[in-house]
Amino acid sequence: MPETRSTCPYCGVGCGVLVAHADGVVTGVRGDPEHPANRGRLCSKGQTLHLTAAPVVTAQVRATRPLRRAVRGGPWAELGWDEALDEVATRFADAVAQHGPDAVGFYLSGQLLTEDYHVFNKLAKGLVRTNNLDTNSRLCMSSAVAGYQDTLGSDAVPACYDDLAQAGTVFVTGSNMAWAHPVLYRRLEDARRARPQMKVVVVDPRRTETAAEADLHLPILPGTDVVLHHAMLHLMLWEGRTDAAYIAAHTRGFDALRDRVREFSPAVAAKVCGVPEADIVQAARWFADGPTLSAWCMGLNQSHAGTDKNTSLINLHLATGWIGRPGAGPLSLTGQPNAMGGREVGGLSHLLPGHRLVADPAHRAEVAALWGLAPGVELSARPGKAALELFEAAADGALQALWIACTNPAQSLPDQALVRRALERCPFVVLQEAYLGAATAAFADLLLPAASWAEKEGTVTNSERRISRVRAAVPPPGEARADWRIAADVARRLQRRLPDTGARFDWPDAEAVWCEHRAATRGRDLDISGLDWAALERQPVQWPAPQGVGRERLFGDGVFATPDGRACFQAPAWRPVAEPRDARHPVALTTGRWRDQWHGMTRTGTLARLAAHGGEPALELHPQELDRRHWSPGRLVRVSSRRGSVLLPVRPSDAVAPAQAFIAMHAPQVNRLTTPQRCPRSKQPELKHAAVRVEAA
Ligand code: SF4
Repeated sequence: MPETRSTCPYCGVGCGVLVAHADGVVTGVRGDPEHPANRGRLCSKGQTLHLTAAPVVTAQVRATRPLRRAVRGGPWAELGWDEALDEVATRFADAVAQHGPDAVGFYLSGQLLTEDYHVFNKLAKGLVRTNNLDTNSRLCMSSAVAGYQDTLGSDAVPACYDDLAQAGTVFVTGSNMAWAHPVLYRRLEDARRARPQMKVVVVDPRRTETAAEADLHLPILPGTDVVLHHAMLHLMLWEGRTDAAYIAAHTRGFDALRDRVREFSPAVAAKVCGVPEADIVQAARWFADGPTLSAWCMGLNQSHAGTDKNTSLINLHLATGWIGRPGAGPLSLTGQPNAMGGREVGGLSHLLPGHRLVADPAHRAEVAALWGLAPGVELSARPGKAALELFEAAADGALQALWIACTNPAQSLPDQALVRRALERCPFVVLQEAYLGAATAAFADLLLPAASWAEKEGTVTNSERRISRVRAAVPPPGEARADWRIAADVARRLQRRLPDTGARFDWPDAEAVWCEHRAATRGRDLDISGLDWAALERQPVQWPAPQGVGRERLFGDGVFATPDGRACFQAPAWRPVAEPRDARHPVALTTGRWRDQWHGMTRTGTLARLAAHGGEPALELHPQELDRRHWSPGRLVRVSSRRGSVLLPVRPSDAVAPAQAFIAMHAPQVNRLTTPQRCPRSKQPELKHAAVRVEAA
């Protein structure tokens, strides 16, 4: 049976897969033993990919024809591709003509391939000339991005997966890595078995599976990460455990940070964070002993202080010199499979291709030239709207047309009451989607059926900057098409309706799109100008690769991507959670993953085998809380925040501290409760914490 080499479409580990297929049907999947990320392993989600692509599942859940409805909530009617594409182009062109370019918006996904992102970005910024293009990567990694930029000078993950095998300490924070990045966690387990002296520290308000297996678990109170990081540095300074020579040679800004952390002694931090002082001291000593690799995910990023949490952690690496060396460095764990690839092509409202910035006139001119814009045609300098801002604008009536691709904001964005108002008020909503059952489909006027995993060609970049090929093994069902082709088809139609900027949208295949992206990286921190498609066919490669050979870790020479080459310490003040508990909302709600589900479950939720683990959505409370209220497990309760409420059965769990609660992020209504308050720097919302009250229903 033929096998096609590809990449798992779920998380940012980016595991290689071999897809078996026959007669146009995916028949099996196994881990690619030659892929450096997973070396043949797959987690439960990856192992069942072929089942989600089975014809019996596809026939029930996939969108296979363009659909249109006359009235929102009314029945769909099929239409041809030409008519559908014409309608999108006409409605977008009309909106631009009547209200200006910023009256339209694009909301995309970290699950799109790099080539999809590139075409959408060029369409929005090079043809429509609006920067109103953002993605659900804003909910995923934007605080890590801002943290890297502010400290290291670029959106570049310094470390790599192989560092797990060489680290003396692995500092896992805000991540249930055992469930969220399972194959990488297996590599951590391997490393611990090989070197039992390795220490694993886990920082998480819940006693997750990852925390339960750690040498040291610090169950800090939600939102106190910056205090912990500052206290660790305080202790390192007190005990002379920082690397003064490294700080002097390769950094700046340390004096302000030293002044900042003076007030955060471990004793003070213990009270604020709610953990023993001795544990903070131990964590700091192990971190300083090193080599230390830190791994983090949404617990740091999804916060109104997300950038501060990231910079205060990266400070620890810079202060100890544990960066750019084997076994050491910050390694943010990307949630989505291609959040990083999307940023490479400029797929956020403030970005342009090649990690360039909308705000920089020189960058705008460089991209205009790369895209072949006509003389005198400039890219827009107006700031684009980030994810939540797009929906706020729609709710205010400022957006006339919204194109949503490969993401499900009617489930995944915080403050669902606002999102629903936005989708209802926006006059024209296009949804480009593979799955009919996505909650956002209820708000769409037009549905464009998209190809999915194993049906399209392109590339993705994983958490260690490794670019891997995604390949088509079977044709898409019905008339579904690759996302980049749909965007290019609309772009060519828009060109006939809008002033021609000179941008071209006539690529023959995904390779040609990728080559255009590659050209934009020349001379940039992610330079892959020496890499060719044929090389990627043979082996995934980590950027940068200016001569075609990837680099496993960055900044080993102590030279950073800042104007003077020095890393910049940041000295953030501590800001508590955006929504502190109070008498009316006395419970701290946190959210997280189930082991076997992915995001809104449009794909993984189709399989009974995956549904068996995790059970039904429930509110998890400490057993003491149930005893105190005389509630039995399974009792229906109403959970209310300032924005909405949901009914759920209650489930006792001693993984959750008293006065805290947990709901899996996959639960369909959880984001009625979550807050839209966001980090002012990264604009990433605080999906990880909300103050709620819990009452008997
Ligand atoms: Fe897919 Fe992530 Fe599991 Fe690897 S660890 S198989 S990339 S879901």
